[in-house]
Amino acid sequence: MLPPETDLWNRVEQTAREVFGTFGFGEIRPPIFEPTELFARAVGGETDIVSKEMYTFQDRPADLPEQHKGFVVPEYARRVIVNFDRREIPHTEPNQNLIHELKEKLDRFEWVDKNLKAAKGSELVALFGEYETLYTELAQIVFVKFALGDLVSLRPEATASVCRAYIEHGMHALPQPVKLWYTGPMFRRERPQKGRYRQFYQIGAEVLEMVPPNQDPAKNIGKDAAVDAEVIEMVLAFFAKLGLEGVKLEINSIGDRECRTKYVELLRAELLKVKHKLGPDSQRRVETNPLRVLDSKLDSEQGIIAGLPKIADHLCANCAAQYAEVKRQLGMRGVAYAENWRLVRGLDYYMRTTFEITALGLGSQNAVCGGGRYDGLVELLGGQPTKGIGFAIGEDRLILSLQEASKGGVAQGRDVFVAWMGEKAQATAIAAAQKLRAAGFRVELPPVEQKFGKALGQADKLGARYALILGDDEIATGQWTVKTLASGEQRTVTAEDIVKFLQGEIEQ
Ligand code: ATP
Ligand code: MG
Repeated sequence: MLPPETDLWNRVEQTAREVFGTFGFGEIRPPIFEPTELFARAVGGETDIVSKEMYTFQDRPADLPEQHKGFVVPEYARRVIVNFDRREIPHTEPNQNLIHELKEKLDRFEWVDKNLKAAKGSELVALFGEYETLYTELAQIVFVKFALGDLVSLRPEATASVCRAYIEHGMHALPQPVKLWYTGPMFRRERPQKGRYRQFYQIGAEVLEMVPPNQDPAKNIGKDAAVDAEVIEMVLAFFAKLGLEGVKLEINSIGDRECRTKYVELLRAELLKVKHKLGPDSQRRVETNPLRVLDSKLDSEQGIIAGLPKIADHLCANCAAQYAEVKRQLGMRGVAYAENWRLVRGLDYYMRTTFEITALGLGSQNAVCGGGRYDGLVELLGGQPTKGIGFAIGEDRLILSLQEASKGGVAQGRDVFVAWMGEKAQATAIAAAQKLRAAGFRVELPPVEQKFGKALGQADKLGARYALILGDDEIATGQWTVKTLASGEQRTVTAEDIVKFLQGEIEQ
């Protein structure tokens, strides 16, 4: 990412900061990598994200280099023991069993090594054989069998981290709900194409609220629905402020654990009847995750999918009431939406409200935002019963869409280009640049003097709005010349008035 594109990235992130701030959200900055276990549990081990898209590696203590760095095995084994005792190597059950074996074998190895020097004849042959066997066994233990560190992954998404942080920092004790937003890179091993990258950026937000003990789940349906609607309203306010074009919101309810489980069974039974007509991906999903069949874009499957049972007809009373209330709340906020019963999410943790937003100019990767409710995720990760709703915006796609819409627009690289000529003019030019920069203008000051024609040409190329022209006359009279580059119009302004003039306070 390079300038001037990074200006747009900054504007997008700054706008998010401002808009989300008006809704009471504070920024959280979670780490880029976390224990693999966190994502496996939160996102779900069977999902595409965890099963094939995550970048995972094994950590290890700093003073245990990789095997190929040519360490002698006994020395390496000694270091493993030291690190294990310091708890720099995880005390998992398999490691705890191995450490005894390792210590015994290492002791014996050292004894054999010492006695080898004095041994003779058949004793020497036997000891040498043992030396070789032990050496190989020690290598096996330290390089293959031992888990030298935890498995860690580059984050494929941030909701899991936010929930982890909520638990770890006792945020349930803060005034509820806790409203957090974040931005940063995410990593997924996918086939790179337009709008789909292996390192991509998300802007997301989460609303987390601990459920008081013994609360009747039916009691707060209206409140939850209002929170859902406000979160959606906030994303749309953000997009509107950016001037994003062709924004379409789709919503759905995917029920809760109970009614969805029943629906999924029904769906599976129906799909089994037509399994032979489905493509290989969907055939597999009938077994692993029937909901994902609804996601299919295969032409040949569309007719079949249209005839499948719809979740809206199978929601339990609470889920149906909540869904109806979300729609009413969106209406009160003037938010236009379309219902899409086939909208399911690829992550395990979602329930009830789900939504997706698409925008213009993105081809087939046109989803710029996905979100939904995930009550129960915090509890799954070891916290108290907690409600959650959130979304993630694909920032790369958002930027692509904004660029698509503003095609042809010239990037405004500078506000003022200071064109100066003559030795005396340089000091004035420097002072002018200092004054203008202090007032917040983006100023280009050429390091050496240039003929005015060349300077104005460069100002044009940089997309400057104004050129401040400082030659002998201007220095002598204190009357500076300002040229508006788009119109070619020129006028004189005094040194004192230059800032006010450029701020538009003096008639132009
Ligand atoms: P898709 O169906 O497009 O793969 P997803 O369901 O995997 O999206 P989420 O996990 O919901 O996506 O992430 C939210 C948003 O992040 C998406 O709507 C999209 O804008 C963006 N996104 C997801 N994966 C990528 C990627 N590899 N490159 C760029 N943006 C992405
Ligand atoms: Mg995906």
